Amino acid sequence: MDTLTKSRIQILPPEEARKIAAGEVVNRPAALVREFIDNALDAGSTLVELVIDEGGIRRTEVIDNGGGMTREDLELCWYTHATSKIRSLDDLNTSETLGFRGEALAAAAAVTRLEILTSIDGREAWELVVGPGNTTPPRITQTRRAQGTNVRTLGLFDTIPARKRFLKRAGSEANLCRQALIDKALAFYGVSFRFIQDGKLKLFLPAVTSRKERFAQALLTGTEGLFLYEIPIGGSGFSVTVVAGGPELYRTDRRQQYVFANGRRIQDYSLLQALEYGLQGWFPNGTHPIGGIYVSIDPALADFNIHPAKQEVRFVDAGAIHHAITQALRDFSRHRNMAGTEKFFDGENKLWDELDEGKKTDYPPGEGDAFSRSSALALEALLETPRSFAPLPGRSPPEGEPPLFTGEYAPPYGELGSDGEPAPRLLGRAFGLFLLVEWKDRLFIIDQHAAHERLLYNRFMAEAIPKQELLVPLPFTTESEEDDRFLSRRREDLAKLGIIITGGEAGLWYIEALPVNWRLGDAETVKEILKLKTAGEDMTERWAATLTCHGAIKDGDYLDDTAALALAKAVLKLPLPRCPHGRPIWTELSREDLFRAVRRL
Ligand code: ADP
Ligand code: MG
Repeated sequence: MDTLTKSRIQILPPEEARKIAAGEVVNRPAALVREFIDNALDAGSTLVELVIDEGGIRRTEVIDNGGGMTREDLELCWYTHATSKIRSLDDLNTSETLGFRGEALAAAAAVTRLEILTSIDGREAWELVVGPGNTTPPRITQTRRAQGTNVRTLGLFDTIPARKRFLKRAGSEANLCRQALIDKALAFYGVSFRFIQDGKLKLFLPAVTSRKERFAQALLTGTEGLFLYEIPIGGSGFSVTVVAGGPELYRTDRRQQYVFANGRRIQDYSLLQALEYGLQGWFPNGTHPIGGIYVSIDPALADFNIHPAKQEVRFVDAGAIHHAITQALRDFSRHRNMAGTEKFFDGENKLWDELDEGKKTDYPPGEGDAFSRSSALALEALLETPRSFAPLPGRSPPEGEPPLFTGEYAPPYGELGSDGEPAPRLLGRAFGLFLLVEWKDRLFIIDQHAAHERLLYNRFMAEAIPKQELLVPLPFTTESEEDDRFLSRRREDLAKLGIIITGGEAGLWYIEALPVNWRLGDAETVKEILKLKTAGEDMTERWAATLTCHGAIKDGDYLDDTAALALAKAVLKLPLPRCPHGRPIWTELSREDLFRAVRRL
């Protein structure tokens, strides 16, 4: 340590201080990308192109067709705190722009060579060259260009080796740049984006008319976009659009979940949770939905100025937004389930109609009208719902005892293969789980458990759940007042689910009736009912899933041929062959696939 100088504190020369501060704003090429695209969008562009070389380290350039800058503005734009967007701190309360601090171009000019070409009308155009740091004096020359702006940086951190060391491999930096572009594109679906990496066009996202379409275009493959939904949500001082994938698109991680506030992607764990909570019960356990939450909020009700790259936002009333999202998604997924597979295709979406059309050619219309008696009986046996009316001998019938039911049942499923159509043929079974069915020129390999689950589920959702009275009511005591409150408040809702509950004094309750074919023991039964406490609005789906799960045949259960064929016919009619948890019910091989596999063409 130097003991000779009197003071150890030194004031950094302004140029050094600027470089350090700039390195905080612009720490990697993706940060430049984010800022430059923001500027292009603030300038009203409808076309934004990103060009990078060597991960953006050698060159990062954003080209737009926005409003451009005059020569006077070009002279000023790269100075620290040069901004056309606000005049004072108060303006932040009304600012609708993505930028506002006036630091991006200044930071870029401090750490890299910055070149800007711009024109406001295509008649006069100017070029500015400045940086890195104060190595060369800024230069402005006349040039030619259509209306819009190129902002180009060359040689990031070339003069600051300490920063350059922290950059990743070019490939990784390129991926971050691409993601930064996608983050912007997801929010601005009406703008076209192009991404060119090392001279190759890597991504082209033409303008679309909805967030849902952009989400599919930017992130999904094939026909996955068919399973996206767009849900508008209103609130006071804010509105939210949620784009969410159905269970068909489940993921095992949360990487494809996005939150945006006024066009910026933000990190907000709590709103992501709202997405998960809202869709809970519609997805298999341990899986996650994909989707985007797009919040538009009155700038006075949020602070965007708490993070250097504006990646966090403080909402004045975060709870209200969270609540609105959860509630709306619960209603939505409940409705989706209620609609079942019949109404799965919504008429307003063209793609859905197309898929529907496709299905109609595979499964001829009108087939559901005819319903043969033998098939009805087979299905009935399968669904374990005899027409007979019989009293229950006691609660919790022991294993193996035939279940007893009340209530009428008319199977809702039509039959395939009537009216001269070739009928599906049961070929056999495989691995204790699969039914092998030949139909027309395809071989269907059907997961019998998933198939049965779907049919049961549809029925529970479509009809009142039939119940049976217990000969001896089942008494139980609750452990908390919360349980008591739940049972007394939701008594009528529970009745609709086939659960009749009486009593309640001093925490002592009686179960008087349960859904037909209920199979669990006493303690389990009470536990399942109390579990519904957390279900809220989607109690019916949760209960249907519980019943379905306990009622459906399991792997290895043997179905006789008539029952197996009836099951196959019923599920082959489904427009969307998925079990309630989103897994496919069958896989299929065409005649052609098989012939090709053995090279017989
Ligand atoms: P901020 O965006 O916070 O205002 P910047 O440093 O990013 O600060 O930009 C400074 C100014 O330069 C902007 O306010 C805007 O007037 C101008 N500018 C930057 N990029 C563009 C562009 N692509 N088109 C038109 N004007 C631009
Ligand atoms: Mg900016």
